Amino acid sequence: MADPLVKLEKLKKNFPLGRSFFGRTGYNVRAVDDFSLEIFPGESFGLVGESGSGKSTIGRCILNLLSPSAGRIEFAGKTIFDSEKGIHLSYKEMLPLRRDMQVIFQDPTASLDPRMNIGNIVMEGLKKHRIVERGEVEKTAGDYLELCGISRDLSRRRPGEFSGGQKQRIGIARALALRPRFIVADEPLSALDVSVQSQILNLMSSLKKQFNLTFLFISHDLRTVEYFCDRIGVLYLGSLVELGSTDDIINSPLHPYTQVLFSSVPQDMPGPRPVRTQLRGEIPSAINIPPGCKFHTRCPYSKDLCSRSIPVSEKAGEGHFVACHRWRELLWEKAGDNAAADI
Ligand code: SF4
Repeated sequence: MADPLVKLEKLKKNFPLGRSFFGRTGYNVRAVDDFSLEIFPGESFGLVGESGSGKSTIGRCILNLLSPSAGRIEFAGKTIFDSEKGIHLSYKEMLPLRRDMQVIFQDPTASLDPRMNIGNIVMEGLKKHRIVERGEVEKTAGDYLELCGISRDLSRRRPGEFSGGQKQRIGIARALALRPRFIVADEPLSALDVSVQSQILNLMSSLKKQFNLTFLFISHDLRTVEYFCDRIGVLYLGSLVELGSTDDIINSPLHPYTQVLFSSVPQDMPGPRPVRTQLRGEIPSAINIPPGCKFHTRCPYSKDLCSRSIPVSEKAGEGHFVACHRWRELLWEKAGDNAAADI
């Protein structure tokens, strides 16, 4: 197997709070908690979970846009951050890597400078990273715009003259022009009309094949993750609760949280679906994370042990991992129910 392009080990990100509502200090928002993951070259890895589960924070830590609190981040064999060895690359040290690591933002309007024309927006990175000879910059920018479905004849127009979907295409062209190896796509479709979402998803999919790109695809839209990703990680309150191939996670989810998440996907999608389960209550605050299994306050299968002990991630199959004390037991119960239904 190839070496991972991105490697995260026991990553933590806390946001200290100055003072709580009651005046007490020393509180932390534990946005990411002991998160480990490897992303391999050429794959699309989907990170899913409810709002506030820490998905975007992980993406930003990888890109070094946020400083992790602890753990280790490696990209293409180079350590970006290591709390034990005191390594944290500076802005200048990150520059050679920046070209390889690009981002597609959630809000295409906010991500494009409204004062620049779109040709200059794409050319900016080409010039900064000296991707092509000076005389080739304008032509190259036009090539990437056209590759993303925007005519080069529109290069002198400003972002305000384009629709949301077109702006996202311009954002993708800007990222792609640097010929990156890795792209963090942070909810790239959620600000777009439903009619445009599939076009952008198809564009990303064809560019991924054409340029052998590696994606971290962050989304709460499970249908797009199912379509676009090779593997999926399910995040709950900053921790990975299940990891596996898209087929494993969609068709044989083992963690109760994954089962709830994917049972909410509309039933017109192909493939078997678990019985729809309702969650109890809201996701707890990341300031006051429940002890033991973080999901125990909402889990329909919670037992005493769950509130006392943190479940470790166990191998449940080839490349399939789950962090739940009762996953085997629940699987047997389900198998028993299915056998009874067949009789
Ligand atoms: Fe539910 Fe317990 Fe499993 Fe947590 S460990 S998901 S509370 S059954």
